[in-house]
Amino acid sequence: MSKTIFEKIIAREIPSQIVFEDDKVCAFRDINAQAPTHVLIVPKKPITRIGEAAPEDHQLLGHLILKAAAVAKQLNLDGGYRLVINNGPDGGETVPHLHCHILGGRHMTWPPG
Ligand code: AMP
Repeated sequence: MSKTIFEKIIAREIPSQIVFEDDKVCAFRDINAQAPTHVLIVPKKPITRIGEAAPEDHQLLGHLILKAAAVAKQLNLDGGYRLVINNGPDGGETVPHLHCHILGGRHMTWPPG
């Protein structure tokens, strides 16, 4: 199978502004920011989407969310932030590699669009 765009970012095959990385996850700035701070955090394991994660991904998914919170702190989103995971066409997913959006730097509205 061909690599997803996020696998290419992780492999440094295409440029990106990486803000955090460890052995399991990578966080980088979204190319089309929807807020003053908009970062994506992705597992290095290319899980297609949250709906296709497996029981064996339990620890990795916990790590992803905890690191999302750590990245938000690193980026000084002290006033709050929003974590978003889009799943499938109706969820607004456009890249088939699980990712969590970290959005902050402005007041978020509800309901989301
Ligand atoms: P989603 O619509 O939830 O699948 O989110 C995919 C996100 O990936 C969008 O917010 C895009 O702006 C972002 N994106 C696509 N290509 C790149 C890229 N090369 N570097 C950073 N972000 C990207």
